Amino acid sequence: MQRLHLPTLIGLGILAIAAAAVPYLFDVSAYVVQMFMQAVTYAVAVLGMVVVLGYTGQINLAQAAFFGFGAYGVALGTVAGDLNFWVSLALGVGTATLAGLALGMTTIRLGGHYLAMITISFQQIFDLVLVNWIEVTRGPDGIAGIPRPTMFGWELADDRAYLLFCAIALYVLVFAVWWLPNTRLGRAMRSVRENELAAEVVGVHTLRIKVVAFSLSALLGAIGGGLYAGGFAYISPDNFNFARSIEFLTATLLGGVQSPFGGVIGTVLIVQMPEWLKHLPESLQVIKDVYLAVYGIGVILIMVFLPEGIWGLIKVWRAKFAKPATTDTSGIAPLDFDVAGAKDGPMLRLDALAKHFGGLKAVDGIDLDVQRGTVHALIGPNGSGKTTSLNVVNGIYRPTLGRVVLDGEDVSQMRPHQRASRGLGRTFQNIRLFATLSALENVMIGAQRDNNPIPSGDKAIRARAMSALDFVGLADRAHMIVRNLPYGHQRLVEIARVLAGHPKLLLLDEPAAGLNQTEKMELVALLKRLRGHGLTVFLIDHDMGLVEKISDRISVLNFGRKIAEGTPQEVLRNPDVIAAYLGTEGKVN
Ligand code: ADP
Ligand code: MG
Repeated sequence: MQRLHLPTLIGLGILAIAAAAVPYLFDVSAYVVQMFMQAVTYAVAVLGMVVVLGYTGQINLAQAAFFGFGAYGVALGTVAGDLNFWVSLALGVGTATLAGLALGMTTIRLGGHYLAMITISFQQIFDLVLVNWIEVTRGPDGIAGIPRPTMFGWELADDRAYLLFCAIALYVLVFAVWWLPNTRLGRAMRSVRENELAAEVVGVHTLRIKVVAFSLSALLGAIGGGLYAGGFAYISPDNFNFARSIEFLTATLLGGVQSPFGGVIGTVLIVQMPEWLKHLPESLQVIKDVYLAVYGIGVILIMVFLPEGIWGLIKVWRAKFAKPATTDTSGIAPLDFDVAGAKDGPMLRLDALAKHFGGLKAVDGIDLDVQRGTVHALIGPNGSGKTTSLNVVNGIYRPTLGRVVLDGEDVSQMRPHQRASRGLGRTFQNIRLFATLSALENVMIGAQRDNNPIPSGDKAIRARAMSALDFVGLADRAHMIVRNLPYGHQRLVEIARVLAGHPKLLLLDEPAAGLNQTEKMELVALLKRLRGHGLTVFLIDHDMGLVEKISDRISVLNFGRKIAEGTPQEVLRNPDVIAAYLGTEGKVN
């Protein structure tokens, strides 16, 4: 997580503006000024790629189209519409943002390769429209005579003044994008990138987050494009084609996909590269002939050897000088449990619940009540339908038949994040954390769920997360990146993440899986503490010893059906249960 280190920021700002002011101080050719103008306006579009690809993990191969929306907005607005520059820019940026929203909506059903293909198609259609809809776009001839704006009476007609203005705009936007990961939205974006399923289950409206990411990316692309149009006074369709989108992508990857500073560095290099090639000595001229091949090989080498781009190198170098991160563990409030349910009836009711996968009846009509304030275990041999039941309860699957009633409300048709916002929390059999985020950030994402009864604002989210981490005994590990934590601690972070969201019902899928004997004892103690606080827990486990120690009630599944239910003593003596376990596993474990 980045901290606001004011001197560094001011230093960087001065550096950026000083670079843009160089043409004022020295006699630089107009050509060089134009090249910097190109770099600065492209860099704004690359910031959009950092948001959508770097932060949210969604591939976007249509950034040049959004760049084009901004550029054509300015060009058509000022030249054809006789509008003010700023109004035209706003129109272009607005249209681009709507287009980004529409493109983001396609992520409802599609991800990965399909999403890549959709964005390529979008880019190609945009290109075709620019070239062929001549009455509006003026076709391949492009649009000339685009004016520059004035600002507070400050005439930006001079190239140097305009460059300075663009550099300041870039700096402000870099700052905003740099700060974004620390916000509620930015954390949600990163959770989608790291583990979309877990994000949804923890309460992140993953679809909305992806749509917002695409819209933001489009918005930044269009601002870059609008500034570009003003800078060069002339635009034509070949500035906004697929090759340009690839250039934006390459700049992002080269600089470092998760950092706006990396994005700027990457852009400058990409824009300058052809220039450097021009100055190659005679003997190396052959490189120019195979420029595209060199470019392609370069991209592959970067992806293989520098997955975090140039910024990744800088980060490693900076880390050598940084003090090791620590967390202030003073003044952590004890975790409170909001369990004062005024309602009667069970906390969870499964009503003739069934889930079929084709012909396989994984869950085959289960009736089950989990009473308030109890620990209720669901056991059964491997493959008996335990995990599937839990997946239906929390919305990863919709039931084939039957209903899931949470605290009196039928939630059968809700998406997982909607159920999370009603206080349904869960952990996974195979831990699902946001691997590259810190323990604290993981837990903050659990704390920021909709309707969590805590004060609004990041401070309260953070405080709640620290309380939850402290409850599981990991407050002093808050700053650690979770994938570097030992397995047992990762389990605890996952439990803290769900506790931070004030669950009224906690679903645990094999919480003891993969733990050693000591860790299992600690887990039992933790679960007993949870019960002591009155939390309702519905857990699946395999390990009879563990279940027996902590459960008030046990239900037993076999082949998707409930074959027994009762207190641990009753159930473990039941001949059907013994037979089910002996029949499939050879032992009661
Ligand atoms: P348990 O958690 O009790 O070990 P599961 O609920 O994971 O069992 O699985 C129950 C049955 O459903 C198994 O036969 C499993 O192969 C099947 N199953 C689980 N998920 C799917 C799925 N997504 N598609 C098809 N079959 C599935
Ligand atoms: Mg399972």
